[in-house]
Order: sequence, then structure tokens, then C-alpha cells
Amino acid sequence: MQAPSDEMTPFEAVTWWFDRAAEQLRLRDDVLQLMRRPWRELQVQVPVRREDGRLQVFVGYRVQHNGARGPYKGGVRYHPKANLDEVRALAALMTWKTALAEIPFGGAKGGVQCDPGSLTVEELRQLTRRYIQQIAHLIGVNRDIAAPDLGTNAQTMAWMMDAYGQIYGHSPAIVTGKPIELGGSVGRDAAPGRGAVFCLAEWARLGGRSLEGTTAAIQGFGQVGSWTARSIQSVGCKVIAVSDWHGGVLNEAGLDIEALAEYARFSGSVAGFPEGQPVSNNALLELPCDILVPAAVESVIHVGNADRVRARFIVEAANHPVTPAADAILAERGITILPDILVNSGGVVVSYFEWAQNIQEFRWEEDRVNDELHKIMTRATHQVFERACEDKVTPREAAYALAVDRVARIIDLRGFV
Ligand code: NAD
Repeated sequence: MQAPSDEMTPFEAVTWWFDRAAEQLRLRDDVLQLMRRPWRELQVQVPVRREDGRLQVFVGYRVQHNGARGPYKGGVRYHPKANLDEVRALAALMTWKTALAEIPFGGAKGGVQCDPGSLTVEELRQLTRRYIQQIAHLIGVNRDIAAPDLGTNAQTMAWMMDAYGQIYGHSPAIVTGKPIELGGSVGRDAAPGRGAVFCLAEWARLGGRSLEGTTAAIQGFGQVGSWTARSIQSVGCKVIAVSDWHGGVLNEAGLDIEALAEYARFSGSVAGFPEGQPVSNNALLELPCDILVPAAVESVIHVGNADRVRARFIVEAANHPVTPAADAILAERGITILPDILVNSGGVVVSYFEWAQNIQEFRWEEDRVNDELHKIMTRATHQVFERACEDKVTPREAAYALAVDRVARIIDLRGFV
């Protein structure tokens, strides 16, 4: 197998992990062909009338990677660098994530190449409705269900639900991560961050380690990063640094996360928070701390900085934040990486609860959501830990082997090949 390099595109990187698992599992060639590439891809034009009167045409995508285990499921990203290859990679990650968590979905992802920060609320509303109109024939409550991701939020989901409902009738289960008033689930916002901490806590417990008195640095303070920062304190870990797109803040005595969140709400960034000193996004990744949590964008840990990471644990709250080439360097250095397909599945797990609640027209209490999330995250962590010990492989290799095996078995059972 070819050695990994930082030149790989995001989809090539995810496929590289898939190929390793397929080789280890000795997947039959026909099954492998069905799993290696997305089942369906759609690229659309998304025209928006800007407030200055210009018509601007954005490019949007929806990739349905694999639907063997159930309806396709995956978020929609609004980002200037969103492109087909990246959306493909994220869709594939969803396939492995849902299989690892054993929830009845396949994997999909969507994206619109745009800078949401430069659009007005009205322009964003128009863009969202137009995107949904363009992909409406491919999605459905039992076909493909969207959710928030980078640059999208509960308001975006509300617009999506409405745009879809105008064509097919009221269908709250068409998107998850909605506002509570529209059928969103309590606990959905916190779920990816909370789930990441459930996973970290279980991994530490299985390894006989305590997290009491440990320190963490977190890159990204959006939905995932901010909730990871809040939750990680509950296991005795002190957050010493946080950053976002504009910069970061460091306080070795520990940051007051609620005060920081309040500051960021008003100023638009954690940068400049007075109770700490500035730290750059790159320097944050190299801080001496126990736990490093990349919770922003992809490929931030690469061959150029992997040697300088000083944390003992990397918790991949973001999707593919570590390149395969950097992964090899970190493994060599004895740094444990809890992989994205395990760690950040809390979002899709509670999305599954939201979808199930919408279909049953029934609401769960927050305690139930969190208890069920805890059960699923700890079960998956346990399975990955055991597999990694049995096969003497890294947590990522174990997670991929489990997930790929599950999808392959379903393909066989359903008689696709
Ligand atoms: P978000 O838009 O809410 O927040 C992103 C954060 O990252 C912001 O603080 C932003 O300023 C920061 N950021 C953006 N570019 C950056 C850069 N180049 N360097 C440093 N910081 C940067 O997005 P989110 O929903 O929190 O998603 C973050 C990551 O988690 C993504 O990789 C996403 O795919 C993944 N993820 C999200 C969910 C979810 O449910 N939202 C679930 C699983 C995984």
C-alpha cells in the first residue's frame, strides 16, 4: 500500500484508512468496489440575489456515500473552501461513524461554497432555500436527512425544513439540529462535545487513567469546541487554551469557559479575552498539555507540525483534523489519537434521537437524551478499545475495521452483490 502523504486530498485520505481496513478484513473485491466510492453525487447551482442587486451563483453539493445501513445522514457545510472532494470525504466519514455507533443510517454530506460571514441573514435564508429546492428530489425522511455542520446552525435547519415542506408537506424529520420549537431535540447542540468527553472519559477508565488535574487545549469554539470545553471540565480537566478563526487565548491557571463564551458572544471571537494572554491557532496545537482537541477544521495537524505536538492524547472532535502522514508520526511518538469517527459521533447520535422523536411525534426529556448518548458513546468506545488491544492496532485502525466490517456484512445480507 502506498505511503500516506500530506498531498492527499481529503477523500484520498479517508479512502486510505478504508483501504487499510479492507485489506485487514480481506474484503471481497465486489463488496470493496461498492464501498470505496460514493453511491451518488449531485452538484447544483445556487443563485442568490445580493442586497446590492447583483445575482451571485454559488456551487452546492450533496454526496450520498453509502446507504446500506439505512437512510443517508449528514450535515451541510457552508464554507469558502467547501468542494466536491471534501464533501465526499465527509460523507464517507458519516458512513463509518453511523456504523461504529450502530445507528440505522448511512452516510452523506452537503456543502455550499460560500463565506456565510459575508452574507446577510436574508441572503443566507435565500441561499438555504434555493439549495434545498435544488436537492429536494434526492432527500427525504426515509431517504436522506440533513443536519448542521461548519457555518450552519439551528436557524439554517429551520429554513431547510420549511423549504422542503413547501414542496412535500410538513416534514420535521427531514433535518435534525432544528430549533426546539420546531421539533429539535433537547441536548442536540451539546451532543458532539458532550459525546467527545464521554468517549475520552471511557477510554481513560478502560486504560486505568484518571483525568483529574489534566489540562486541555481546544482549537475551535463553535458548536463542537465550545461544548467540549464546557463538558471536559466535568471530568476534572482544566481548559488552558481555546482559539477560533480570529485567534486564541491562553491561561495556564484554567479559563473560565462560561465567561469566555459570554465574551465571544458579544465580541464575535475568543481572541482578546482579558483573562489570559493571546495565543495563535498554530501555537495552540503545540502547547504543553495532556489533551489536545482539534475542534475546527480539517488537516490542522500535518507532517509540518506533528513532531511538535506535546499533548499525550488527541481527541478528534473535528472531522479529519490529522492527516494520515501525521498520524503515523504521532503513533510513532506514542501519542494516542481518539479518531473522529468515534469521538464526534455524538452529533449524529442525538440527530438519530431527534429523527426518531419527530417520526413518533413524541419528545424526550434531556436526561433521557444524555443517558442514551452516554450508553452509545461508551459502548462504541469499549468496542474500539477491545479491538485495538486484540489486534494491537491504533484506535483509528480498530474503529475503521469495526465500521467497515459492519457495512460489508449488511451489503452481503441485503444481497446487493
Ligand atoms: P462551527 O461553525 O460552529 O465552529 C467552527 C469553529 O472553528 C469556530 O470557532 C471558527 O471560528 C473556528 N475556525 C474556523 N476556521 C478555523 C481555522 N482555520 N483555524 C482555527 N479555527 C477555525 O462548526 P462546528 O459545528 O463546531 O464544527 C467544527 C468541526 O466539527 C467540523 O470539522 C465539523 O465537521 C465537525 N463536526 C460538527 C458536528 C456538529 O454537529 N456541528 C458534529 C460532528 C463533527
